[in-house]
Amino acid sequence: MSRRDALAAGLRLRTRRLRRRGGILMYHCIAQESVDPWAICVSPQAFDEQMAVLAGARAATDLGDFAGDDAYTRAGARVAVTFDDGYLDNLTTALPILERHAIPATIFVIGNGVGRTREFWWDALQRALLSGPLPEQLDFPFGIGPHTYTLAELPGDPAFVPGWRADFDPAVTPRQQLFRALWDAVVVLEPAEQDDAVDHLLDWAGQPASAPTTRGAVDEAQFARLAEHPLVTIGSHTLDHPSLTDLSPERQAAQIREGRRTVEDLVGRPVTRFSYPYGRFDDTARAAVRDTGIDIACTSVPVPAITGDDRHALPRLQPTDMDGDGFARWLRGNYGLLTATGR
Ligand SMILES: [Zn+2]
Repeated sequence: MSRRDALAAGLRLRTRRLRRRGGILMYHCIAQESVDPWAICVSPQAFDEQMAVLAGARAATDLGDFAGDDAYTRAGARVAVTFDDGYLDNLTTALPILERHAIPATIFVIGNGVGRTREFWWDALQRALLSGPLPEQLDFPFGIGPHTYTLAELPGDPAFVPGWRADFDPAVTPRQQLFRALWDAVVVLEPAEQDDAVDHLLDWAGQPASAPTTRGAVDEAQFARLAEHPLVTIGSHTLDHPSLTDLSPERQAAQIREGRRTVEDLVGRPVTRFSYPYGRFDDTARAAVRDTGIDIACTSVPVPAITGDDRHALPRLQPTDMDGDGFARWLRGNYGLLTATGR
């Protein structure tokens, strides 16, 4: 970065700090997980402590407040809670905690995910690749064409290095490199082919084909219990959770439109909130979201929301498995949120 670029970046940061702000949190699973390369799981205990911090600071607000000006304060005192994907533990584990602290949440649900009887492909891929010993050679006849991978592990290489983040840390071990390569190969496949590909990988890895039930999606009855709960607002998360930026504008629009319609049919009322799968979006996806009547849409850009942000591309912060003190320090120290107690 040149000196001038650094100055400009510093100035932008200052400008952001001076503006009114708030935070939108992005959760996925509320579950205890030892293998979690995307850090999408927060343990029930940690989640309870995190919600207690928001409740104690009277910070919790509804995501809808970020569509207007209500959620933005100089002290960054307002924080909204969201969940992506529609995991069953949102109902069984997160909701009782949200109830205890009276915290509203928006849950972005994949249209074809409701009633899905098998785990999502990214969970299956992780189970196949990061659990146990693996054969040295993999034939992978999916996507751009047959491909052979060789896994040259050293004796003693662990299946999963605790704390390794696939999104931030370099892939150092051969297994981490293979995991990243296969993730990149599978994310762009058609939905049915994604399932075939992870079946192939589970079989190759000698892992059972069936998913642990704790890591599943809600079925229709469970979805209905979420949707009718007064603290919950349902949003959409496309029909099949594709990488939107890898699709043509027409297919982007269809995934966004059909995902919303499917969830609306289940909810029985308009669905006006949306989040971008994998946080991936571009101008055409954003325009499709806006044109389909979505009022507020969230990305995964990890910064606080500030006044003037585009409400069809609002940033979100991803809390990890931190206790209450760590969570409060993270919000205050890293993002300037909750700097006033709010009491
Ligand atoms: Zn998602």
